[in-house]
Amino acid sequence: MTSLEIFLVLAGLLIGSGIDAAADRFAREESWIRGRSRCRACDRRLVWFELIPVFSWLAARGRCRTCKAPIGGSAPLTELAGSAIAIAGVLCAPPDTLVLTVLLGWLLLALAAIDLRTYLLPDALNAGVLALGILMDAATHPGDWPLHAAGAVIGYGLLWLVEVMYRRLRGRDGLGRGDAKLLGALGMWVGVTGLAPVLLIASLAGIAAALSMSIRQSSALSATTAIAFGPWIALGGFAVWLIQIGAPEFSGGFY
Ligand SMILES: [Zn+2]
Repeated sequence: MTSLEIFLVLAGLLIGSGIDAAADRFAREESWIRGRSRCRACDRRLVWFELIPVFSWLAARGRCRTCKAPIGGSAPLTELAGSAIAIAGVLCAPPDTLVLTVLLGWLLLALAAIDLRTYLLPDALNAGVLALGILMDAATHPGDWPLHAAGAVIGYGLLWLVEVMYRRLRGRDGLGRGDAKLLGALGMWVGVTGLAPVLLIASLAGIAAALSMSIRQSSALSATTAIAFGPWIALGGFAVWLIQIGAPEFSGGFY
């Protein structure tokens, strides 16, 4: 492994930790940057050895050291995901797209963490996915930009159409506009040919997640069950992008 690869994998833990904290603050409508971390239950300031990714949570067995309030598993899971994204990038991406690929993964992780808590996908983060996609396109294969721009427009248009038709037929919201924006931004990465596999992975993963949620809560899945679709679009988009750069033979030589 190169020193850049090791740096990205370790930085992933810290980035994941920051994403989990920022998503938590966003969901509570607090300032994104609120200074030092505190226990949610007793408001005690956490000291440095309680802020080590994954390790601190395991060492304290998922509880606050003083008030013993349970600390949810979202922090260690997001930290591991941040690192796993970097590892996936190292395994799949050629050196010229490694950093952009890992940055895409971290942006998508932030979108997923916020969507799971609030059912919102902030425009600023979706715009970041689009901007990075334009940068990646210009830096690596500028000649293909029409395929990627078409991916962005059709990706957005497709889910916008689903959203509008669903509202007209059922009289309530099924998809959010943020989902259309996210698929459009990812279309800039995977191009028009990548949209169908992204949607396939997103739908299967979303259905699996909704089923496992209804089993755990032992409630029947109905058409009104609210699920966040953004995390599964993000997952599908990142997986298809990794396949396109890691195994171009599976994507018809397209990338
Ligand atoms: Zn506490």
